[in-house]
Order: sequence, then structure tokens, then C-alpha cells
Amino acid sequence: MTVTLNYEVKHINKNKFSRPGYKLLHVKALVIHYTANNGGTADNHFNYFNHLRDCYASAHIFVDRSKALEIIPLNEVAFHANEREKGPLIPSLKATAPYYPGGNANLNSIGIEMCMEKDGTIHPDTIARTLLVLQKLQKQFGVWPIYRHYDVTGKKCPAPFVANEKLWTKFLADMKKEDDELKFSSPTVRKSFEKLLESKATQEIVINAGIEAGAFNESWRTKWENKELAAGDIVGLAVLFATKK
Ligand SMILES: [Zn+2]
Repeated sequence: MTVTLNYEVKHINKNKFSRPGYKLLHVKALVIHYTANNGGTADNHFNYFNHLRDCYASAHIFVDRSKALEIIPLNEVAFHANEREKGPLIPSLKATAPYYPGGNANLNSIGIEMCMEKDGTIHPDTIARTLLVLQKLQKQFGVWPIYRHYDVTGKKCPAPFVANEKLWTKFLADMKKEDDELKFSSPTVRKSFEKLLESKATQEIVINAGIEAGAFNESWRTKWENKELAAGDIVGLAVLFATKK
């Protein structure tokens, strides 16, 4: 099952501890976090930050295994990557504004939090959906670098991506791969694929070419010949073929 973006917008109320209402100067980076809160969903974090009264913290978007939830408008500051008094470790993210002085990365970056499962892992669907969120943001704001919170301030966040550098490298590499799937998950593109694949002749071309390219195996031809495939399955095969590297 392909993970879809399932992006929901539900903003928390303005609150000096989590949504100060300051304007972002611009977007120059996307910063990845994890919640360090086992079992907490995106909705749980909406509630938490909507009522936060005892410390300064927040992020723009929370991603869990079923959806992505924007809790702070993407043109406002969230408190997610500025715990260093000397400012960010990445000089280009040092920004200041009269309403939020000190030279910090919260003025020019968007913070995205990955939610955790009860056992403290990050579900693969959460990771896949986070990639889709990043692609959406890159389309919206330009292709700015993606940093871990760790890169910006040295905080061990997201811990799994700090403990294992390879996971982080793979995450960045997967950005490219998932991009095609994102494109094909767009309803317009999908509709035109469906239309095209109504014809038996086109289906046969896709099945033969897909098997030859190694996008999927022979068993799918048998299923097709036995009329075991629904229209959606055939579109899925076409997408696999079209996105095969
Ligand atoms: Zn963080």
C-alpha cells in the first residue's frame, strides 16, 4: 500500500509558548525532528501544544503513521531549533528580527516532527509520509536543504537518525525516489493513467514492458491473463514501471 500525503491543516491558537505569531522572514531550510514521545500521535501533539503554558516549544507539522498535521501556519515562527545561546551551527540559518532577536534558525526554517510508535520506533509509513511532506514543501518554497535538528543545534534529534548516520543518508536519498510516487499519487495524473489503461492493448504493453524492465515479476502477467487484476492494480503496475530507476 502506497503511503499518501494525507495533509491536514488545523492550527493551534496563538499562545506565547508555542505559537507566538511572529512572521517567518523566509524559508531557507527544512528541519527534521522526532517527538521523543512514545505513542503520541499528531493529534495528541496538537492538543499538547495548544495548551502549552510552561516552556517554549513547538513545530509546524507533525507526521504520524496515518496523516500529516500542520499545527502552525507555514509563514509563522515555531519554536523548534533554537536552544543554543550562540545561535545555529549553520551560519546561513542565523537570522534576527526585532520581534525575535538573537540570531536563530526559527526565523527561517520550517520544523517537521516525526511521531513515534509505542515501542519508541518511527513507523516506516511515518518516514515515507515525512518524505512526501518535504517534497510538498520543496515545491512550495523551493528546494532548500533538509537538516536534522542535530545539524542545526547539536541536539540528538531525531535520535535514530543521529545514532545511525546511514539511516539519515538513506532518508535523503529516498527523497528522490519518493518524488515519482508523489507525482503519480496526484489525482489528475492518476485519472489520466486510468483512462489510458482502459484499453486491453495498452495494458498488455505495460505488463510486457514492466516485466522486461524488472519493475515487477512474471506472476503479474498470469494474474492479468486470468483477469484477477482490478483497474487499480493495473494502474499500480504502470506506476511501478514508470518510476522504475
Ligand atoms: Zn528536534
